[in-house]
Amino acid sequence: MRRTKIICSIGPSSSAPDTIAAMAEAGMDVARFNCSHSDWPSRREQIRTVHSLHADPARRPAVLLDLAGPKFRLGEIEGGQVNLPPGATVTLSLQPLAGSLPFPLPEVIEAAQPGDTLLIGDGGVSLRVESKSGSTLTARVEDEGAVRTRQGVTLVGRDIPIPAITPQDAFDIRAGADEGVDWFAVSFARSAADIETARELAREAGSKAAICAKIETAQAVERLDEIVQTADAVMVARGDLGLQVPIADVPHIQRQVIRRCREVGKPVVIATQMLESMIENDRPTRAEVSDVSGAILEGADALLLSAETAIGRHPAKVVRTMSQIAERAERELPNAPTIAPPGRVDSTCAVARAACSLADALQVAAIVGFTRSGTTARMLAMNRPQAPILAASPEHDTLGHLHMVWGVAPVQAEQGDTIDDLIAAAYRSGVRDGYLHVRDTVVITLGTPCKDRGHTNLIYFGEVTDDGKEA
Ligand code: PEP
Repeated sequence: MRRTKIICSIGPSSSAPDTIAAMAEAGMDVARFNCSHSDWPSRREQIRTVHSLHADPARRPAVLLDLAGPKFRLGEIEGGQVNLPPGATVTLSLQPLAGSLPFPLPEVIEAAQPGDTLLIGDGGVSLRVESKSGSTLTARVEDEGAVRTRQGVTLVGRDIPIPAITPQDAFDIRAGADEGVDWFAVSFARSAADIETARELAREAGSKAAICAKIETAQAVERLDEIVQTADAVMVARGDLGLQVPIADVPHIQRQVIRRCREVGKPVVIATQMLESMIENDRPTRAEVSDVSGAILEGADALLLSAETAIGRHPAKVVRTMSQIAERAERELPNAPTIAPPGRVDSTCAVARAACSLADALQVAAIVGFTRSGTTARMLAMNRPQAPILAASPEHDTLGHLHMVWGVAPVQAEQGDTIDDLIAAAYRSGVRDGYLHVRDTVVITLGTPCKDRGHTNLIYFGEVTDDGKEA
């Protein structure tokens, strides 16, 4: 069983029901819908296609709705694009002005100062601001190229004070809540407060979706600790991050974010350009294979495919390729440096650590963690045990959240009244979903009193029996 989770962006290449099903078959754990593209009528239909793959949320991919956030974009360029030659002077104008680039971004004009760098799109075109007057900026082209309608704009190194959650994001949260999405991702999050705002809006809309913070600004890196504490998962969004901070810093920030998340047992996602060449090609480059393996060995829980599956030529094949690279890298994980929580830990974390140590020593077939909120499963995963982790839960929302967590297979299990009931339920659900077989040895963590939430205080070692009862 592959342990690293694969998140796939759904786009024009992958929106057909057959393709979504093929990607799920190939190993897609989470389907990502990027609100920067597409519209609700088609997105709604595609989310429903994912949901139609299985009635049990443990047995179909989870759905992540990636909010667009305050991304700055050029306006409509006449003819769709314009070429900017090296050294040319360009005017960027708030109001339509002949010969100028449409720049409907008053906050950017306000924040920009002479000497600042403006990057367009993926950063291929860069401009140096020379002056500003009222509603226009004048800039010189440093790296030339074509710029297109609605391409993204990055003002490097300036914190532009606008809310991370825009009115459009609030609308998308409500629409996502209506569709029962499992995760929301907050783009351009800069503080814990941004995560809390998204969570409050989700709760007001009746959703228990988990919240993923995207680290893609210098401010988010500065406030990493509070963001990691508040969010349910963290994504290193390397695309925008590589525009907002010096690009050579990106791999080091990636390592820093992974380490911080691993220390507290929060899932961490590495995103963007992981298998970029497979948008066109059948095979990845050696450098891409190294990047994917490296992220796993550093401790990532999940890897995100963006354009590869959204607009690429082989959406299902790219998932299979990533899966093969992941399985190979995971064989090396026992030799990778361990990342343990610093200082004193709580009892769930300590029990999980002991359960993993027991499971490794006894070479069991699986570790079963009973979990209402998902915390025990995350604490088990944090130790990177050799055996698969079955997260047994009666909570549908929790099952959906756990698709993002390394090594965790969510299984729907009834909530029992006694320890014997819980053990029998674990065996039944594990066998039913194909993870356990009769006579497999397992380590189980659970909490007594059984109906109470929020504590795990027992470790049990047993053998799966055919009537779903303990041996
Ligand atoms: C990124 O910037 O790397 C990212 C994942 O976000 P988006 O695709 O929304 O730009």
